[in-house]
Amino acid sequence: MCHMKEKNFAPETLNAQALHYIDPMTGGVSPAIHPSSTFVRDENYQLINARHSYGRAENPGYAVVENVLAELEGGPAALLFSSGTAAAMAVVQSLKPGDQIVAPRIMYWGLRNWLVKFCDIWGLSLDLFDAADPDALAIMVKNGKTKLVWIETPCNPSWDVIDIAAAADIAHRAGARLAVDSTVATPVLTQPIKYGADLVVHSATKYLNGHCDIVAGAVVTAKEDEFWESICELRTDNGAILGSFETFLLQRGMRTLFLRIRKACESALAIAEYFEGHAGVEAVIYPGLPNHPGHELAKRQMDGGFGGMLCIQVKGGAEDALNVVKRCKVFTRATSFGGVESLIEHRYSIEGKNSPVPKDWLRLSIGIELVDDLIADLEQAIGPAGAVDVQTKRV
Ligand code: PLP
Repeated sequence: MCHMKEKNFAPETLNAQALHYIDPMTGGVSPAIHPSSTFVRDENYQLINARHSYGRAENPGYAVVENVLAELEGGPAALLFSSGTAAAMAVVQSLKPGDQIVAPRIMYWGLRNWLVKFCDIWGLSLDLFDAADPDALAIMVKNGKTKLVWIETPCNPSWDVIDIAAAADIAHRAGARLAVDSTVATPVLTQPIKYGADLVVHSATKYLNGHCDIVAGAVVTAKEDEFWESICELRTDNGAILGSFETFLLQRGMRTLFLRIRKACESALAIAEYFEGHAGVEAVIYPGLPNHPGHELAKRQMDGGFGGMLCIQVKGGAEDALNVVKRCKVFTRATSFGGVESLIEHRYSIEGKNSPVPKDWLRLSIGIELVDDLIADLEQAIGPAGAVDVQTKRV
């Protein structure tokens, strides 16, 4: 397995071959699925394989995915979880009452809502900063008290880009760790550990798997210290393990990660450029556009593209935005992102009345379809219904 690493092959080569994984039992080029919840001991009461005792601690299928992810992120170890939220929870639960967390005001709303509730119950203090303001983080961080700086970049769904190296510097000076939710960027575009992050968190439900058919999460560490030990123990203690079939699907989906991300980035940029200045559009929010406040930073920090996620601010208001969604024929009306099929959603409706997301924003997750079809679909949906024939329009 490791001979590929020694020869310095490109990440996409390592990823496509899952580090040249060959099943040791059968020689199969695809790994086996291991549903067993318990593992046998010999006559001397020794485990056949010391790593495997009980299914809530470990599954033999995890190593393939964890090794590849650790390699892509440039860390010594990775850990799979039952969801991105479970992965984030293990990081936060490794803190102690009295510790302070600093996190962006706009980030994945489900996690932010959980953080607010959990910090109250657990006796942690939580301070939220404005990710669009480059000076806001430093003001919130308190020397000796802040133990975790949590960032998400690009931030979902404002796509604010946060400077990972600067955040790592601020966190480390205060004696805190930096955790980066890199779900949107993926290791194809950004490796946060290279910029000083201590932990990288993924909702593997999204791009890593890429097919909207599992819920999964992962944490990658920059070092195997006590904090990492705690995260590992919490996976077992919380029972936040990924099922064996989901693990198999994840390794299968991950093999095409580079192809999918490159295609999504290329199409998202083409869509953003096409609708920028469009008569029915107030604004396009995408870090790949020069007018996005995070564009210059994204050019430095994201390598090879600006991601497959963008928002369109529709002219009119909430009702007009919902009418655009209603008229879509190629985009699928669903939440989540990172799959091969393009999705459209009215984010405010998903998040509810306390959402900071403007009511006239539509969030798009760009898949791998022909970009002309995606543009034509949005064109007919944004313009008067039926004005453009989706089947024939080519741009
Ligand atoms: N992080 C980001 C950026 C997300 O968008 C999400 C979910 O949408 C999560 C984390 C949580 O992941 P999961 O749904 O796998 O628990």
